[in-house]
Amino acid sequence: MKKIQMVDLKSQYDKIATTVNDSIQEVLDTNTYINGPQVHQFQKSLEEYMGVKHVIPCANGTDALQIAMMGLGLKPGDEVITADFTFAATVEVIALLQLTPVLVDVDMYNMNISIEGIRRAITPKTKAIVPVHLFGRAANMEAVMAVAKEHNLFVIEDNAQAIGANCKFSDGSKHKAGTIGHVGSTSFFPSKNLGCYGDGGAIFTNDDVLAHTLRGIVNHGMYERYHHDVVGVNSRLDSIQAAVLNAKLPFLDQYNSARQDAARKYSSAFEGNKHIFAPSICDICDCHVFHQYTLRIIDADRDALMQHLLAKGIPCAVYYPIPLHLQKAYTDSRYNEEDFPVTNQLVKQVISLPMHTELDDEQIKFITDSVLEFFK
Ligand SMILES: *Cc1c(COP(=O)(O)O)cnc(C)c1O
Repeated sequence: MKKIQMVDLKSQYDKIATTVNDSIQEVLDTNTYINGPQVHQFQKSLEEYMGVKHVIPCANGTDALQIAMMGLGLKPGDEVITADFTFAATVEVIALLQLTPVLVDVDMYNMNISIEGIRRAITPKTKAIVPVHLFGRAANMEAVMAVAKEHNLFVIEDNAQAIGANCKFSDGSKHKAGTIGHVGSTSFFPSKNLGCYGDGGAIFTNDDVLAHTLRGIVNHGMYERYHHDVVGVNSRLDSIQAAVLNAKLPFLDQYNSARQDAARKYSSAFEGNKHIFAPSICDICDCHVFHQYTLRIIDADRDALMQHLLAKGIPCAVYYPIPLHLQKAYTDSRYNEEDFPVTNQLVKQVISLPMHTELDDEQIKFITDSVLEFFK
């Protein structure tokens, strides 16, 4: 059996090596390392793929979030509501801009931001909501947008983990996660669903004015050469990373399907086990693209299961072991433990199994057998 890895970028690369190499070679041949034609080409292809008017490429997914918030003109003291259960980057940029992060609980079922939690957290200072499409599953954007509209708030989607996922609305329409809010962000970190071979990110918006603002902010606040109208940053997607992404974007749907196939096999093996709550897979709407395959372990020792799997050479991980409201950097006297019953429980129950585009049946069977063996 091939060695099981949490993420197998090497096997994925081997299958598209010529395409990627040729694409990178083109950059080397033309020596346009910054803002080369590859970046523009990627921007256009991604706009088309996402069905969004504007893609603004930038240096990484954390910058993308920060720049999105700068572009919306959020000011120190403005409150920004986000999920307690996410990667720290989401809340980090809020704090960095001296906005006030307000963490709220998530839903047990989809692990995404709780709509009830958002409603309870809104104050007169609230300016924005940042839903995160965690682990590849689209958040309930229809409900988020409705609350935002009611209270006149901006919505910034952190789509670092769910590129390609669809959000389905009750009128039957489908939209790509990341393109529904006023602005959205993503990351091309190598292990993300669309990963480059270094750092990369992008911002999405359908708003022409905001897009223009954002394009200036990523480039030192310049709209005309050496005229700095606003305080900006230096956040560029470099041409070599764009070349890698140009080679990989055509495979994104295939990659996401491979993840869904693996997830389906995992979940069907775990069906009926009372200690395992496995993520469901919707066959029609692609609302979950399985950046991670995350189980909840019920009435059993999650950490002992981890040790059991690691001893068998099966990598696994806890995303995330500590709720953000308990992280030293993000504690706030306004929080009460009773406000976070779900995240406080999730951090003790979750375990993520290997998930990537190259898992084969033999590996999946070994992993599921090993998990089930633990509960015998
Ligand atoms: C990866 C990630 C980010 C940050 O992306 P980088 O490209 O690593 O800066 C932000 N939010 C979430 C939820 C992520 O998973």
